[in-house]
Amino acid sequence: MGQLQERFKHYREPQKFMEADVYPYFREIEGKQGTEVEMGGHKVLMFGSNAYTGLTGDQRIIDAAKAALDKYGSGCAGSRFLNGTLDLHVKLEKEISKFIGKDDCLCLSTGFSVNQGVIPALLGKDDYVICDDRDHASIVDGRRLAFARQLHYKHNDMADLERVLQKLPQEAVKLIVVDGVFSMEGDLANLPAIVELKHKYNCSIMVDEAHGIGVFGKQGRGVCDHFGLTDEVDLIMGTFSKSLASIGGFIASDWDTINYLRHTCRTYIFSASNTPAATAAALEALHIIQQEPERIQALWDVTNYALKRFREEGFEIGETESPIIPLYVRDVNKTFLVTALAFKAGVFINPVIPPACAPQDTLVRYALMATHTKEQVDRSVVALKKIFVEQGIIK
Ligand code: PMP
Repeated sequence: MGQLQERFKHYREPQKFMEADVYPYFREIEGKQGTEVEMGGHKVLMFGSNAYTGLTGDQRIIDAAKAALDKYGSGCAGSRFLNGTLDLHVKLEKEISKFIGKDDCLCLSTGFSVNQGVIPALLGKDDYVICDDRDHASIVDGRRLAFARQLHYKHNDMADLERVLQKLPQEAVKLIVVDGVFSMEGDLANLPAIVELKHKYNCSIMVDEAHGIGVFGKQGRGVCDHFGLTDEVDLIMGTFSKSLASIGGFIASDWDTINYLRHTCRTYIFSASNTPAATAAALEALHIIQQEPERIQALWDVTNYALKRFREEGFEIGETESPIIPLYVRDVNKTFLVTALAFKAGVFINPVIPPACAPQDTLVRYALMATHTKEQVDRSVVALKKIFVEQGIIK
């Protein structure tokens, strides 16, 4: 046994939670991801999914994926750069660009690899990258991989962002990268204020729309569209793994920027292209969300209902304005316990602990889909209220 493996003998954090019977991870779902799923033969209401539009089991998407599998095969055996580009990838890029409202875009195999590859490709050693301190891990990793100088500001604190920007040279390239919807807390970036600061301090802006697409804006175009600021935001990234019922991600921008990224973004050039089935599924989901605005309306109806119910019952839900509802617990052990008790009571929710949040901000993340019913929300609120009261988290 080498020194390296010796180190991991002492890593027993997960085992502590397993012994306490509250380990919440890697539960196996035995079927499609709808509002109710079976796990180990146990039926639970699914309030831990990112499938906001509720499309993952949609037969039209499954059929589109099957047809692509039949036509193109199971994989592309190479990167987009070389042998891995299908006409289907190019079609998706054209439709995403139009949908988002930018000249052009690149589609990659995951959303994570978009942030991880694009940020370092854009910036050099004399540049600056400035992030909100709650930005997603993929933005953090992209920032770390960039040779640019790295700065961050307190979550959604525009005075703190301005304090950071004031110190930077006016002529330097400065990129602010921010989540449009914060993935754990459900609040929105203050894009109008960020855009004002962009002009005042001569910066560029990149917005992560992973949780905005299919939820905000006209036909689900995202938070930039919701604020009417698509033209002011220089780069928009998004994923296909949430509202678009597939896997993959994109970066959209002006023609010159995308031309540059197409030939320099390492996670685009040196990683295999997305599978035909996943690409066709994302394309079909993109059509459906545009054709069925009632889906997004249903998501908002059930979201507003759940927000009202949690507030009425005295839960602490922070500043959320989206289908992501954080139920604050503010204690790591209790967060695991609440998650386990909820699971036993038939409600699947996700624990959020550091590094996904600050230690004092631990929470369980409750998320809605367009396909949830108010009756399902009621059932979950009753079960969660009982647990939160018993654990002394709320009254
Ligand atoms: N950005 C944000 C804000 C996310 O929440 C996620 C996924 N949770 C990603 C990027 C990465 O996307 P994907 O899972 O599609 O790789």
